[in-house]
Amino acid sequence: MTGSASQLAVKVDVDTYVGLRDGVPALAQALQQRALPASFFIACGPDHTGRAMRRLLKPGFLAKTMRTNVPGMYGWRTLLYGTLLPGPQIARSFPQHMRALADAGHEVGVHGYDHVYWHDRLASLSLADTATELQRGLDVFDAIMGAPARAFAAPGWQCTERSLAAIDAAALRYHSCTRGSEPYRPIAAGQSFRTAEIPTTWPTLDETYGVMGNDAASLTTFYLEQLRPGLNVHTIHAEVEGLRHLPLFEALLDALRDRVSFVRLIDVADQLDSAALPAHRVVAAPIAGRAGTVATQSGPA
Ligand SMILES: [Zn+2]
Repeated sequence: MTGSASQLAVKVDVDTYVGLRDGVPALAQALQQRALPASFFIACGPDHTGRAMRRLLKPGFLAKTMRTNVPGMYGWRTLLYGTLLPGPQIARSFPQHMRALADAGHEVGVHGYDHVYWHDRLASLSLADTATELQRGLDVFDAIMGAPARAFAAPGWQCTERSLAAIDAAALRYHSCTRGSEPYRPIAAGQSFRTAEIPTTWPTLDETYGVMGNDAASLTTFYLEQLRPGLNVHTIHAEVEGLRHLPLFEALLDALRDRVSFVRLIDVADQLDSAALPAHRVVAAPIAGRAGTVATQSGPA
């Protein structure tokens, strides 16, 4: 185990209406009780989680769904949004929750517009359609927060050379769209991109729950073993750690708070000299405990 030389950025992805309504305030309270900062990324458009059920037809998703009890975490209503029920707007329904995060000192960024659309369709979108979808999320954010977003985190860690180009054009400070080990400049399809990427370095709870254990003691032990010197990035979900698994997350915070310094990703990014970062290829790769592939930092270019 490593000591005080480790930093941890808690990246909170907010995918759903219920996640912003209930999960975000619960997480904000848990963080405030411990005086810890985090980086929240909000899906700024409609909640179309029900449409993700088409993934049931793909191998691997059902096994994951049953192991982590998705209906129990999200609620059945959420699983019908965008199909039998209209998808409610996420950010526009709870702008006060986003502003409260910023007021409490947390970072707030954009986690796409329609999370399910980005996750399931990005690979086939043109540059123009990708840029439009990105801009929709950025526009809602700007209208709510009164200032442009500085960071983007891709839904489902889905990336293409078109999405990286669209993000470069949007002139964001950084993005966090991949899984990897350290900040870098992405290369995809032979093109290099200038916006710094700060990848998620730890596996998520939905990838480890029921595999590495299902109680606070064993999962906390597992995560402490992931700690490395330098920057660690842990992505959590408002719908998971903010709701049913809040006790697991609070146990993890209590185990970590004396071992690491908690940082916001934007503060890490502001310290980076983007031009001096190493360039790495981004590849789509499978990851243990998750169906499909995620954008992953590959070897140096
Ligand atoms: Zn997400």
